[in-house]
Amino acid sequence: MTTFLGMPAVAPRGVGQLRGDEPFPVAARRELGNEQLRRNLGHATRTIRAKRAAVVGEVPDWEELRLAGEALKAATMARLPELLVQLEEQVTARGGHVHWARDANEANAIVAGLVRAAGADEVVKVKSMATQEIGLNEALQAQGIAAWETDLAELIVQLGHDKPSHILVPAIHRNRTEIRDIFLASMEGAPADLTDEPRQLAMAARSHLRRKFLSAKVAVSGANFAVAETGTLAVVESEGNGRMCLTLPPTLITVMGIEKLVPTWTDLEVFLQLLPRSSTGERMNPYTSLWTGVTPGDGPQDFHLVLLDNGRTAVLADEVGRSALHCIRCSACLNVCPVYERTGGHAYGSVYPGPIGAVLSPQLTGVEDNASLPYASSLCGACFDACPVRIDIPSLLVHLRAKHVEAAGPSAEAISMAAVAWVMAGATRFRGGERLMRLGRLLGRRRDRISALPPPLSAWTASRDLPRPPAQSFREWWANRNA
Ligand code: SF4
Repeated sequence: MTTFLGMPAVAPRGVGQLRGDEPFPVAARRELGNEQLRRNLGHATRTIRAKRAAVVGEVPDWEELRLAGEALKAATMARLPELLVQLEEQVTARGGHVHWARDANEANAIVAGLVRAAGADEVVKVKSMATQEIGLNEALQAQGIAAWETDLAELIVQLGHDKPSHILVPAIHRNRTEIRDIFLASMEGAPADLTDEPRQLAMAARSHLRRKFLSAKVAVSGANFAVAETGTLAVVESEGNGRMCLTLPPTLITVMGIEKLVPTWTDLEVFLQLLPRSSTGERMNPYTSLWTGVTPGDGPQDFHLVLLDNGRTAVLADEVGRSALHCIRCSACLNVCPVYERTGGHAYGSVYPGPIGAVLSPQLTGVEDNASLPYASSLCGACFDACPVRIDIPSLLVHLRAKHVEAAGPSAEAISMAAVAWVMAGATRFRGGERLMRLGRLLGRRRDRISALPPPLSAWTASRDLPRPPAQSFREWWANRNA
């Protein structure tokens, strides 16, 4: 199956949050030293895992649902161009406006222009991975427009001048005492006697946000799904903040990745069962908001849908890699990943952390810009078992590693292995090599192992010791024994 949407281009540099400042191993090493982070993460992921396992266990046809989700996503990707055109026609016919954004820069400019056209200098936001991906808040700020996050965890991240570390629970790395301190330091009108009791924290956020909901003229959202046959958009959430944003302000702007389509309402039925159980461990989402264009006298009267590519067409062009676009952002793969549980989300450098981030971010940016991410996995396969749409993340990781190796040319490892093979292929060379190895006995004489070697061999000893070479080689032992 092939799909063609135009010239595939990767997400541009210098905008958005898909590239980290340092490679994963460097960032992960630092994060591993943060004991508070590891405690918070261990507790949070254990709790979510148990909730998910309980509600998934209640569904007798869970595996069939997963297969249906996988098949629907694959079929949608194969027809993406025509379905996107159908979506545009339906949204337009129902009074909405559709904008096509090739990349983050175009999407940010479109949204900023729409906010200005509405005469607003602030917007309220529903939690949205797409807008984080393109760095919308920063782009709006540069234009003098304030963007207020209304999801509680996103608000904590925003007020703490922090970065999200989980797709679903962006402040998973914070405990409640840290949250109280952030509110006291940065939240307008936070009560001075605020404690770290969860109800008190929620009430403080509620009264802060209510003022924003009632005054904002423009809301910005993402979308969990869009139904091509009717032009209907869907957002699922747990706090009701999304419902407030989607109904109160007169202008609504939705930024949606082009892969979020489903062809029909019947398809939505499958995903609305898979998503809540896999993400928050609930049977259904507390709030499921659906809207179709504009309804006179009810809700926003000006609706804009921004369809975002930002590297997705390039992902779609790879027949193996494209299954990363099936992701419904439930974050189940993060919660079961032994690497994510220990390093946390910041180490991945992108807004998409964990196993899905390790395969999606390098494809959106081009593998060379996120070359360390496909290696941020033990390939244990827990992510595949948990994924509600059966994305074979371990195979994608291996596929991307192969692409990286091909693009990077012969590595130090490959050159070393070729040299070792050449030495071992000749008896004289092998004997010489053995004698050379014996020099290593000097290096390991103190601790009976070698812990530090000069570059490029330091790549090995940075994380592992080498055994001290024996005083006698096997060949020498064999010769002595026969003599
Ligand atoms: S890859 Fe699968 S498990 Fe991970 S976030 Fe996406 S849908 Fe969920």
